[in-house]
Amino acid sequence: MKKPPLIWLNVGVFLITFLVAAIAVPYRAITHGFDSFEIIAALICFCYCGMSITTGYHRLWSHRTYQANATIRFICAIGGAFALQNSILHWSSDHRIHHKHVDKNDVDPYSAKQGFWYSHIGWMLREYQATRYYDYSNVRDLQKDKIVMWQHKHYLALTLATNFGIPIGLGLIHGDVISSILLIGFLRLVLSHHTTFFINSLAHIWGKQTYTDKNTARDNGVLAFFTFGEGYHNFHHIFENDYRNGIRWWQFDPTKWLIKFCSYFNWTYKLKTTPEDKIAKAKAHMQLVKSKQKLTLYPNAEELMNKLEHQYDLLMAQMTEYYSVKKQLIAQKKGELSESVEASTVVNRYKTLKVELEQHLKHWHSLTAQYA
Ligand SMILES: [Zn+2]
Ligand SMILES: [Zn+2]
Repeated sequence: MKKPPLIWLNVGVFLITFLVAAIAVPYRAITHGFDSFEIIAALICFCYCGMSITTGYHRLWSHRTYQANATIRFICAIGGAFALQNSILHWSSDHRIHHKHVDKNDVDPYSAKQGFWYSHIGWMLREYQATRYYDYSNVRDLQKDKIVMWQHKHYLALTLATNFGIPIGLGLIHGDVISSILLIGFLRLVLSHHTTFFINSLAHIWGKQTYTDKNTARDNGVLAFFTFGEGYHNFHHIFENDYRNGIRWWQFDPTKWLIKFCSYFNWTYKLKTTPEDKIAKAKAHMQLVKSKQKLTLYPNAEELMNKLEHQYDLLMAQMTEYYSVKKQLIAQKKGELSESVEASTVVNRYKTLKVELEQHLKHWHSLTAQYA
C-alpha cells in the first residue's frame, strides 16, 4: 500500500530540534559549558511542559478524571503550548480515540501494533489522519471550556511565544542567549517530546500486564520515572477514569501527587478513583490467566487447573464480602448507616474478614507464583 504524503512541517520540526539537541548542545557543553542556572531552568521548564501534558492534557481534559479551577487550567494550557504537542482539543481528541480503539491499526491514531517507530513518532510524520483531522465530535464537552477553545484558537501564537519567548527571555536576564536557546529551547523540547512519545511506544511494549491483557499497554516503573507517573499504563488503560496511574504509595506518580496536593486548596476537585475491589479482582484475574498459560506445560494440567480455578472462585467470593463490609464500615464512620446495625458487629466482621483475605491472598500468591 502506498504511504500517505509526508507532513514536511512536522518532519522539519522534529528533525531540526533533534539535530540541534544531539549535536549543537553537546558541542556547546564542551566548548563553552552550561552553568547551574541554565541547567536548573531547563529542568524546571522540562517539568513544566511534561506535567502540563500529564496533569492537564491527559488526566484532566482527555479523561476528565478530576476538575480544576481556571488558574490550573490556564497554567496547563500555556505549558501544553510550550511542550509543542498540538492544542488541548486536538490532543484529547486523538487520545480518546486511542483509548476507545486501542491497538486497532485502522483507527487508533498511534496503534502500538504498527510497531515502535509508528507509535512513537511515525504517526505524526505523514498524513495518516487527514480524513478526520478536524473532526472534534468526540470532544464536545471540551468545547465548552473557554480556556481550551482560547488555546486552540491561539495555539500557534502561544507556541511561538513560549518556545522563543521563554528561552530568549531567560537568556537575556542571565546574560547568555545562545546557551539558553540551546538548553531551555532545544534540549528541553526534544526531551519533553520523546518522553511523552514513549508512553505511546514503549509503554505499549515494555513492562508488565498487571491488570489486563486485553490490550498492549504495560506497567513500567522505569518509564514512570521519566514520564511523571504515566508509565503505569496498563492500569491506566483498564481504569482510565482514575486520576491516579501509580496507585501504590511507593509507585512514582508525581502527577497524582500534584493533583491531590492541589485538591487540599480546592484548586482541583471531584477526583475520581476506581473502587478497590475492582482493582484487586482485575489483578487476581490476570494472575489466574498467566498461571493457566504456564499450567498447560504440566503433565497433570487439568487437575492443577481445576484446583487453581477453585481457589480463584473462593478468593473472588471472599473479596466481594470483604469489600462490601469495608464499604459498610466507611458508611458507618460517616454516620450514613442506620442505627439498627450494631457498630461493633461491623468492626469485628471487618477485622475477621481482613485477616482471612490476607491469608488467602498469601496462599493465592504462592500458588500462582509456582506457575509464573
Ligand atoms: Zn489516557
Ligand atoms: Zn496507551
